[in-house]
Amino acid sequence: MTPLPPKLSPEERAAAMAAATAARRARALIKEKLRSSEVSIFDVINSAETALQKMRVRELLESVPGVGKLRAAAIMERAKISPTRRVAGLGRIQISQLRGELAMSKVDPKRGILIVMSGPGGVGKSTITRELRNDPRFWISISATTRDPRPGEREGVDYYFYNDTKFDQMIAGSQFLEWAEFAGSRYGTPKEPIEHWLDLGKNVLLEIEIEGARQVRAVDPQAILVFIAPPSWEELKVRLTGRGTDSPDRQAARLALAQIEMAAASEFDHILVNHEVGPLIEELVSLATSHQV
Ligand code: 5GP
Repeated sequence: MTPLPPKLSPEERAAAMAAATAARRARALIKEKLRSSEVSIFDVINSAETALQKMRVRELLESVPGVGKLRAAAIMERAKISPTRRVAGLGRIQISQLRGELAMSKVDPKRGILIVMSGPGGVGKSTITRELRNDPRFWISISATTRDPRPGEREGVDYYFYNDTKFDQMIAGSQFLEWAEFAGSRYGTPKEPIEHWLDLGKNVLLEIEIEGARQVRAVDPQAILVFIAPPSWEELKVRLTGRGTDSPDRQAARLALAQIEMAAASEFDHILVNHEVGPLIEELVSLATSHQV
């Protein structure tokens, strides 16, 4: 026996119809934006909007300038995406294949840029990262570390907190883009999410120490290496020792490390001086935009 459709009150029916109209509008609007290249197909895939997540991939592809029905079907077949697949059902590998197919068809929307940010302790890197977390143009990489969580730090948000065995397994499985030892603990950048977010057109930011930045340079010459410098050495000294909570030995160690870190600045593609966070973020954004091809 087929179940009867739910009985709706007139108000519920009106609300359902209004929701359906809004969803139809959202779909029509996004197709329009795709046609005018205002957004890329990867922006849509990346959107959290339910109406867009429910759209068929084929429908979106057909709206991409230069694609059309026949090409859309061919691209989907080569990317092994079923003709009825909806956006929400796309897997990472399919997204990556879609990116490859669009590139070959010369309708490749912009890929994101990998930005590596380093600098001495106390220079304000974590404030910059925190600000950029709310910027839809960026995705901030989440590192793995063997150090213990600090108060307030959350698993999978600030870091993945791994024990030594798990960290060793990640190294053995070549699952890190880079990893390094710092202050007695190990830190590494998981490789897999990076490609995914770059494919989706996001700029990916790694906030890592200098040895890791060198490794990224070696494996990915296209990455942009940015060094964040303090306005002056004196100012950094104040920031590093000003809190007064560290012992004199600990303060001396922090300063010595900062000196070593400052000496690496010339290895980076760009040196940005952190006078103020707002303008510095704008500089980072324009760097990424100018490197996008
Ligand atoms: P903290 O323990 O204070 O969060 O970080 C210590 C240092 O480790 C910082 O300089 C930070 O940039 C660096 N770091 C964080 N994640 C990574 C990573 O994935 N790889 C490398 N090489 N350094 C990292």
